[in-house]
Amino acid sequence: MAANGTHTNGDSALPKAKDLWHHLSPEALSRRPSPLKTAFKYAVDPRIVSLGGGLPLPAYFPFEKITATAPEPPFLTYNDPVKSKDAPMLTVEVGRYNHEQDPGMIPLATAMQYGQSDGAPPLLNWIKEHTRLVHHPPYSNWGCLMTVGNTQGLDAALRLLTSRGDSILAEEYTFSSAMETAHAQGVRSVPVKVDLEGILPTELEAQLAAWEGPLPKFLYTIPTGQNPTGGTLSSERRKEVYKVLSKYDILIVEDEPYYFLQMDSYVPGASANAPTPPPTLAEDPQKHIKFLSQMVTSYLSLDIDGRVLRLDSFSKVMAPGTRLGWIVAQEPFIERLMRQNEVSIQTPAGFTQSIVFSLLSKWGQDGYLDWLVELRKEYTHRRNVCIDGLAEYFVKPSSFAPKGLTSVVEWKAPTAGMFFWLKFDARKHPKYGTLTPLEIEKEIYEAAIEHGVLFIPGSWFRADQDPIDESIEPADDQPVDIFFRGTFATVPQDKLLQGLKLFAETIATEFGLSH
Ligand code: PLP
Repeated sequence: MAANGTHTNGDSALPKAKDLWHHLSPEALSRRPSPLKTAFKYAVDPRIVSLGGGLPLPAYFPFEKITATAPEPPFLTYNDPVKSKDAPMLTVEVGRYNHEQDPGMIPLATAMQYGQSDGAPPLLNWIKEHTRLVHHPPYSNWGCLMTVGNTQGLDAALRLLTSRGDSILAEEYTFSSAMETAHAQGVRSVPVKVDLEGILPTELEAQLAAWEGPLPKFLYTIPTGQNPTGGTLSSERRKEVYKVLSKYDILIVEDEPYYFLQMDSYVPGASANAPTPPPTLAEDPQKHIKFLSQMVTSYLSLDIDGRVLRLDSFSKVMAPGTRLGWIVAQEPFIERLMRQNEVSIQTPAGFTQSIVFSLLSKWGQDGYLDWLVELRKEYTHRRNVCIDGLAEYFVKPSSFAPKGLTSVVEWKAPTAGMFFWLKFDARKHPKYGTLTPLEIEKEIYEAAIEHGVLFIPGSWFRADQDPIDESIEPADDQPVDIFFRGTFATVPQDKLLQGLKLFAETIATEFGLSH
């Protein structure tokens, strides 16, 4: 049995997480604390003369000061195409020593030194506070550990919980890099049936009831703004999924880089209106409470057992290049992950931790929420432009598709993330029967590139990476679905619309609907 976590980040009146130590991999179980790291606390204790630690003298760090300029809350004009040049800015300055007494700084002498493997304490505390505000994990002994983003977070979770020969569950179509991480560690990904929203709990239950052999180690899921489908699982379905997995004692790794890119619901034609700035906190003191109440329930907030490892990241809400993320899980798991960090990444880079922390502490929890509200507004508008564009080019009769394209294509307006997912009925393709659905998908992909637009074929995201089983003849009334992933996050509006039109033209030609 594990030495249970000593910290209580959550409400101490809440029960502790279940003992789930039996889920740890042999690798995780054999990790020992680095003896050098155990001596570290003495090396930085001002009462002790340290001749023990191999820490270079901060005076020799060739960095006096780092300065960054960033927008200031409430960001009302930062993204306004006309007024943005006058948007108020603030300066974030991190010095070598001089801010040591300033709780809003991690001075460079500390940030650039070897440090605690779960992250710099001021940043870690900030993240814990944020986690409390947003998710209220319903058990007492949860903890956090900083990562180099969710890519590394998943690698760490796989090492913590799986061994070669194990399996995990994943949405039928999922983030291909995640599957590659598992595959390289000898871990098989088994797809779970989804619809355009996400996992179907009844299918999951049936799949597990019929399971033969050792159960999968965890469900890897991207429940919000899923990559690639753009689907967001409702709170109701999350509760059902949690219940099923709890029944079979299976853990959940929720990979949530898009959690805060949740949008207002889609209203056709809304893209005609420029997005209006949200009220300030002074104008609407309930602003943040309302914002947080609009967020779909996370698995972490449902996690009475302590069976969820939540992967969070600044990549999509600040910048991918921060390479900064964190894991929230029960303390015994965090302690094992800390042992892993000690001998792998040690900690995320000091540059990143100190600059991001200084910015966050200048913004404050409220300023950060203001930033997220601002992103919601921006992404809602981009999504509106995209879905209105689909209506324009795929639904309306046009010169290139006199009857429109709705007989072959289907989509669901995403409510989070960066992606939209187009579903095509391959049986409507003139070459169906001669070509397999996979070959049709490849032909469309190549024709689109030839026509000047890139969409990613859905089969590239299949969890099992086996090609669609071509030996099975589809029943006549069963549509054979092929998918393409697009994003509305990357290019300016005019390019987005141009891309949609080019793809619609490709589809019209491919499906023989151009006359
Ligand atoms: N997880 C998912 C589902 C993603 O879509 C991405 C980025 O595309 C990542 C993780 C990578 O996240 P990070 O930059 O935090 O490593």
